[in-house]
Amino acid sequence: MVIGVLAVQGAFVEHEQMLEKLKIPYVELRKKEDLLKKYDGLILPGGESTVQGKLLKELDMFEKLQKQIQDGMPVFATCAGLILLAEKIENDDRQYFKTLSVTVKRNAYGRQLGSFFTEQEFKGVGVVPMTFIRAPYIESVKEGVEILAKENGHIIAVREKNQIAVSFHPELDKDERIHKFFIEMVEVSKKL
Ligand code: GLN
Repeated sequence: MVIGVLAVQGAFVEHEQMLEKLKIPYVELRKKEDLLKKYDGLILPGGESTVQGKLLKELDMFEKLQKQIQDGMPVFATCAGLILLAEKIENDDRQYFKTLSVTVKRNAYGRQLGSFFTEQEFKGVGVVPMTFIRAPYIESVKEGVEILAKENGHIIAVREKNQIAVSFHPELDKDERIHKFFIEMVEVSKKL
C-alpha cells in the first residue's frame, strides 16, 4: 500500500511523520505528474483552503484529483482538506471538489477560540485527542453521511463512502488511531 499526500501547502509533513511511524509508504503530490504515481489512498492536509484550492488549479492538479475521489479513491481530509471536499461552504462563495455532501463553516470557532484542544469519542476508534486550529465545523450533512464525532454539539468528523473528513488535526497529536482507521479503510478498498 502507498498513500499519496497532497503536499502543495499546509501541514503535510506531520501526516508523513505519522505514516512513517505506522510504516506506511507514501508519495508526495506536489505537481501534476505526481498524480500519475501509484497510490491507493489520498491525504488532504490542513492549511489554508483558499491557497490550496488556488494552487491546485494553477498547477493543473484539481480535475485529476477530483476525478480520483469521485472514482472511489479513499481520502482522509483534515481541516482545510475538509473544506476542499465540502459540497458547500456556508460563509464563503468558493467551492472546490464538492464530493462530500456536507455544508461547512470556515473559521467557525471565531478568532478567540481559534485554537483549542479537547478529547472526544470518535466512532469506531474511542476517545481521541483533538487539536483544533482555526477550524471549520460541519453545519449540516445530507443523507448517506455518517457522523463520526461531535464537539460541543457541532459535527467535527464524518464519513461518506470513500471519504473521511475531520475538522481537527490528528497528525499533530501522538495518537495514531485515526490514521490507522484510515489505513484500514484503504486496505478494505484494495481488496474490493
Ligand atoms: N482556516 C483554514 C481555512 O479556512 C483551515 C485551518 C486549518 O487547516 N488548520 O482553510
